[in-house]
Amino acid sequence: MARQFFIGGNFKMNGNIKSIKEIVKNLNEAKLDPKVEVVIAPPALYLLLTRENLREGLEVAAQNVFDKPNGAFTGEISADQLKDSGITWTILGHSERRVILQEDDAFVASKTKAALDGGLSVILCCGESLEQREKGETVSVVTRQLKAVADKVKDWSKIVVAYEPIWAIGTGKVATTAQAQEVHAAIREWLKKEVSSEAAEKTRILYGGSVTEKNSNELAKQPDIDGFLVGGASLKPAFHDIINSNQ
Ligand code: PEP
Repeated sequence: MARQFFIGGNFKMNGNIKSIKEIVKNLNEAKLDPKVEVVIAPPALYLLLTRENLREGLEVAAQNVFDKPNGAFTGEISADQLKDSGITWTILGHSERRVILQEDDAFVASKTKAALDGGLSVILCCGESLEQREKGETVSVVTRQLKAVADKVKDWSKIVVAYEPIWAIGTGKVATTAQAQEVHAAIREWLKKEVSSEAAEKTRILYGGSVTEKNSNELAKQPDIDGFLVGGASLKPAFHDIINSNQ
């Protein structure tokens, strides 16, 4: 079964009203491969602006969501509030949140469950540090991160997994096609064993980490790479070429 190619753009804490309007305008006017699902994730402050200006068919993601529906949680945003604003996706478990904000596997899993229960789809990030890779722990780290979610969530139909080796994020050091494919295949195998054959067959597994228009074509040819989560390059016009890299 062919999985629909997926491109996520993670703006992180970048952009302002002017630059985000410009990115949205360029995306609206670009000739994008209609077979690709495209989701962009601006900072929370610009979610509504993005949704209101982005053309239909292109979706918007939050970069985070809290695991409670409402209440006394200063600074947080709930899945209900995102849905209410037309936001259909959220990124969760990004390594910058795991490392800098010290979000652990259990918290990421709890937020994933809350997001799904609240009707959002989730781009669930996982990935190892350079030290863990050098110790040969890549697959065990990634599957430990995913297992925390599998313990709480049985239906993976609204989850897209993003494998993002930490050493490749924002460093210009992209994983080789072989390194990425090897981990993607291991994740698919793990999904088959720990979730279901259906989840293994249908779940999109994205690669993220210094993806550019120069390396995306080669990576897209790998059988278990179903798209990309793009950081820095999603802010540039070359993002359109990455979206079209599976043609
Ligand atoms: C990311 O933040 O998800 C990412 C992959 O960043 P970059 O493409 O800049 O490495």
